[in-house]
Amino acid sequence: MTVKELQSEIISLRKKADATILAHYYQPIEIQEIADFLGDSLGLSRIAKEKTNTEYIIFAGVDFMAETASIINPDKHVMLPSYESFCPMAAFLTPEKVREFKKIYSELPTVVYVNSTAAVKAECDVCCTSSNAVKIVKAIKEEYDVEAVLFGPDANLADYAEQKSNIKTIKMPENGHCYVHSQITLEDIKTARKAHPNALLLVHPECKREVRDLADFVGSTAQMYNFAKESPPEEINFIIGTEEGLLERMAQDFHDKRFYIAKEKLICYNMKKHNLELIKYVLEHPDDKKHEVKVPSEIAKKAVIPIEKMLKYS
Ligand code: SF4
Repeated sequence: MTVKELQSEIISLRKKADATILAHYYQPIEIQEIADFLGDSLGLSRIAKEKTNTEYIIFAGVDFMAETASIINPDKHVMLPSYESFCPMAAFLTPEKVREFKKIYSELPTVVYVNSTAAVKAECDVCCTSSNAVKIVKAIKEEYDVEAVLFGPDANLADYAEQKSNIKTIKMPENGHCYVHSQITLEDIKTARKAHPNALLLVHPECKREVRDLADFVGSTAQMYNFAKESPPEEINFIIGTEEGLLERMAQDFHDKRFYIAKEKLICYNMKKHNLELIKYVLEHPDDKKHEVKVPSEIAKKAVIPIEKMLKYS
């Protein structure tokens, strides 16, 4: 079966199965093309809550995203096409670790990146994404009237929020990072700048500070997409410092612009575990529980609080 044939089969199966397909920008392009909704983690959380009215949500993203969708849609079945698609950054923080930090810094509120497990979210005061981390840190500081916040699991995003808000972030843990973004080095940027001297450099806040400091724009995947979309016609060239799926999306959508990756092989292999065959499989086998993501209700009840708080603040 060709890619086009598989795609059209999925489109007709999706209707019959009463399913909505949500896909992250880092998904392979052939999955992005058949998604009902495409976005970054905040965008997809919102869509899962506000725009899906089907019994099934097929989530082409990593486990924590599907957990979030399930927590805010407890009456729907959320399915991961590949049940092995997980985020290694989330593994940097456990609920036990959060409790240890809270014991030491009992007066401080806890901000947790959505790239975390539901059990970790259940221990925290508010969630954030890479689009709203600065705003959330400022809001929670005001609400608790404190000088610092606990922030996990991404130490680079915590550092970015601290740099932009002037509010100290205590990293839970000190070394939490995304292996895709944190591998971009100063040398890579110098090489990319040399190859494309007239290009603007757009990077993700999960990159290290030394890389972010050289960028023309720092933002989440959706913010980078909008930056390129809204840039004046004379801005044609862009170096992109994030997972290469976003670059493919932008190259398809903005034909008059040129996109270059900041470093070869910026790939999140966990995101890329999904494929069209697996999406077709879950649409044909919605009762295969191995693919369903369900958060235990006692954890879901607690984890929904920081998620709702984030949605209210953003
Ligand atoms: S790109 Fe990084 S943060 Fe995003 S899912 Fe992959 S490992 Fe996790």
